[in-house]
Amino acid sequence: MNFIIQLEEKNIVDEKSWIHNDNKIVYFYNEKIKINNLETAFSEEKLSPEKIRIDANEIFKFLNLLNSGRNTSNKISSVKIINKKNKLEKHEQMIHDYFLEGFFLSNYSFDKYKNQKKTKFKVDASFIDKDFEHCLNGTYISRDLVNEPLSHLTAKLLSKRIKEISKIAGFKVSVLNEKQIKSNKMGGVLAVNKGSVLEPTFNILTYKPKNRKNKNPIVLVGKGVMYDTGGLSLKPTQNSMDMMKCDMAGAASVIGAIYSIASAKSNQYVVGLIPAVENRPGGNAYVPGDVIKMMSGKTVEVLNTDAEGRMILADALHYAKRYKPELVIDIATLTGAAARSVGKYGAVAMEKNSYYSSQNMYRLWQSGLISGERIVPQPFWDEYKEELDSSIADIKNLGGPEAGHITAGKFLEHFTDYPWIHIDIAGVAFLLNDYIYRKKGATGFGSRLLAHFILNK
Ligand SMILES: [Zn+2]
Repeated sequence: MNFIIQLEEKNIVDEKSWIHNDNKIVYFYNEKIKINNLETAFSEEKLSPEKIRIDANEIFKFLNLLNSGRNTSNKISSVKIINKKNKLEKHEQMIHDYFLEGFFLSNYSFDKYKNQKKTKFKVDASFIDKDFEHCLNGTYISRDLVNEPLSHLTAKLLSKRIKEISKIAGFKVSVLNEKQIKSNKMGGVLAVNKGSVLEPTFNILTYKPKNRKNKNPIVLVGKGVMYDTGGLSLKPTQNSMDMMKCDMAGAASVIGAIYSIASAKSNQYVVGLIPAVENRPGGNAYVPGDVIKMMSGKTVEVLNTDAEGRMILADALHYAKRYKPELVIDIATLTGAAARSVGKYGAVAMEKNSYYSSQNMYRLWQSGLISGERIVPQPFWDEYKEELDSSIADIKNLGGPEAGHITAGKFLEHFTDYPWIHIDIAGVAFLLNDYIYRKKGATGFGSRLLAHFILNK
């Protein structure tokens, strides 16, 4: 059964902005809304991009509700999304695209291992601005990668997947194997992976367009812990390991973002760095108390083997120095503290030398509001850094009991010498239940945020 959703301009929009009858819904929006006006986008007012995506999700849920009361022959199987007007003004085009984005993000499910597939709506509609499509597909890629369990996505298989994706989107990939990781003296990457019987990889994604505007690249660094048991500091609480396949969500969002940027043929030179490992308590695993010499030459006293993300990111951040990057953004499911401070409603972000104030952080914050993948800037005072003093090495990998997301950021700062922003997505990468257009499981959070930030530079 076909269903139609019609978008229509209306002077006064009531609390309920859509009506349903038979096999059609009319969704109203107000002509006064200038969606491309940033102030509108940032306000908590009715028609921000996020509100439109949420409305699309409400309608998506309503269609599923209708279906639950219908017999098979009557079920809605395809949805056509149309505009009442033929010729749309700029703000109407954007409303159309945000609506589609919300609907498509809702219409995702990961069921490749189910014999009985969940029926998704066949959607007959296309984006007006094709960047939306590239960014949506980037999020799908990111969600798929995070939803894959370790049994089907090890570090080596991730590298293989990145190569396949690079061919579709048009960027280059080179992969360092364990031997090359050793010859690069990536002590952090090697230490974390020591307990695993599988090999780590270090992935370098390069999108360098001929018409590039930036001489030196923006480097995106993603944490790729394919599975995190905590290592010998085994995760203690019940069920705490059930979702730990998601500890490579930072890597997945970098892959999704670079896919989107390359597909959109951006004029920005972008490099992605992804250290991929597994954190296990094997016979050779690194132990609390060990001192690890990192790629930068700095020594780290390991106090908890579950604080492993920062160990692999540190080597990747050091590796990034060779590009003399104009900016580095790393993204990682790094700390429970990040999840505790903001919950599932946004990610926390920190910046070297300043907070709130730089153009980069401000623009990233804007991209967060527009994409719906919000960031919350955190203080980044040097007092936090002192908590990392070690008695036997240069630094230790753990700060005090409070503000663990910030001391983790301060640990990473030791390995940077360029403009840099750190994003912790521990609270938003993976959900135990559907939340608006983010489905149970992987959210793909970060992919659209980073792609929007770079595509609108
Ligand atoms: Zn961990």
